[in-house]
Amino acid sequence: MSLPTTEVQPGSQPQTLPVSAATTKHLVVKKFGGSSVADAEGIKRVARRVVDAHNAGDEVVVVVSAMGDTTDELLDLAGQVTDSAPAREMDMLLSAGERISMALLAMAINKFGASAQSFTGSQAGMITDGIHGKARIIDVDPHRIRTALDKGHIAIVAGFQGMSRTTNEITTLGRGGSDTTAVALAAALDADVCEIFTDVDGVYTADPRVVPSARKIDRISSEEMLELAASGAKILHLRCVEYARRFGVPLHVRSSFSQNEGTWVLPGADDKITTQEGVALEQPIISGVAHDRSEAKVTVVGVPDIPGKAAAIFQVIADAHSNIDMIVQNVSTHGTGRTDISFTLPIVEGAEALAALHAAQDRIGFESIEYNEKIGKLSLIGAGMRSHPGVSARFFAALSEAGININMISTSEIRISVVTHADLLDDAVRAIHRAFDLDSEDEATVYGGTGR
Ligand code: ADP
Ligand code: ASP
Ligand code: MG
Repeated sequence: MSLPTTEVQPGSQPQTLPVSAATTKHLVVKKFGGSSVADAEGIKRVARRVVDAHNAGDEVVVVVSAMGDTTDELLDLAGQVTDSAPAREMDMLLSAGERISMALLAMAINKFGASAQSFTGSQAGMITDGIHGKARIIDVDPHRIRTALDKGHIAIVAGFQGMSRTTNEITTLGRGGSDTTAVALAAALDADVCEIFTDVDGVYTADPRVVPSARKIDRISSEEMLELAASGAKILHLRCVEYARRFGVPLHVRSSFSQNEGTWVLPGADDKITTQEGVALEQPIISGVAHDRSEAKVTVVGVPDIPGKAAAIFQVIADAHSNIDMIVQNVSTHGTGRTDISFTLPIVEGAEALAALHAAQDRIGFESIEYNEKIGKLSLIGAGMRSHPGVSARFFAALSEAGININMISTSEIRISVVTHADLLDDAVRAIHRAFDLDSEDEATVYGGTGR
């Protein structure tokens, strides 16, 4: 049976009926990130934890990422072979990372006396569109997983990958995509909870690798989590949070290295829970600070300052399938009738976007393009920002006191973002975290991972 769970279309109705309701056991999906299965010891540690849950009577589906920094290493390897790898072959290469960890984890679980079977994304019924490198889930058909569970097995699924029925090719979901695999399976199997196991104790008010005094958040609304993830907090894949909210999947983010309770991401619209309890009504409520090093800044220099030119530039970028983030248009340089337009986009999409822009240079009539990957973006996330002028004043004062020069600014009701030089980003994050009184007395534990 096929369960249509559409990732992309807003407002689509959840179709999360269980494939079989043969049992009243709890069904849990547990996702383990790369740092949790970085080596043989890690794989055995995870296997023991999974077996414990199985022995306690739960039905357990495990989604696993590639070991340690395998995905980055495979990308480096491809880069040494060619600077223009075909997208299809890139997905064949990258999907191998999760195949290694899933099989090793299944072996370790079998060794510990429980029975496990591993499945690739396509075997597990993760059906995607055909866009290599950033495929979106269009259907989940987990009948093989359901059958494995019914037979008493633990099912291990390779995260981050799927298959297109249109092209019959293997696809990957984009960096960090195993989180989304886990939530999509949890929705399709009607799981009771989706646990995201990682190398920190949950979602913090900032990345604990950058801000050791960051505070753990016990419960966070999906709106706040969406904004943090969208602003670069890589603790959760953005699409995983969107998916969990749409299909009502409770998410528990926690460490695979401790038994500590982690952070619950609450899917309901009414679950507005914030980090600062007891604040007076109508005070701005800050959720946290996110940062992002994955974007580059493009400046299109000397654009004719007449209607239609911005539209032409962004059409070219859209046709190159790039996701634009911040946009700034400078005032027209006096007397020249020309202006500069700057925007940010993911570094991984930079080369294609630049090639497309260069190809359109004569038609659009701009003078040149500047491209800078040495930038970082910092975002302060919280409710009620726009209606509290004091927030911006405090924000910019803190950056100024820390000697941080700002390149670009954008704001919304719940976010202030700035772009700085990449080397200043960590200092900027710490300065803002401190300025908004988010620092805690305790030092956050980072159990593993390289931060890559
Ligand atoms: P995994 O390999 O388990 O998927 P990731 O590296 O993708 O792990 O995500 C976990 C990392 O996210 C943490 O080690 C931490 O450095 C980083 N991170 C960024 N922002 C936050 C945040 N607000 N709270 C917790 N961790 C964060
Ligand atoms: N292994 C993939 C990555 O490193 C997917 C994931 O870990 O979620 O991006
Ligand atoms: Mg991750």
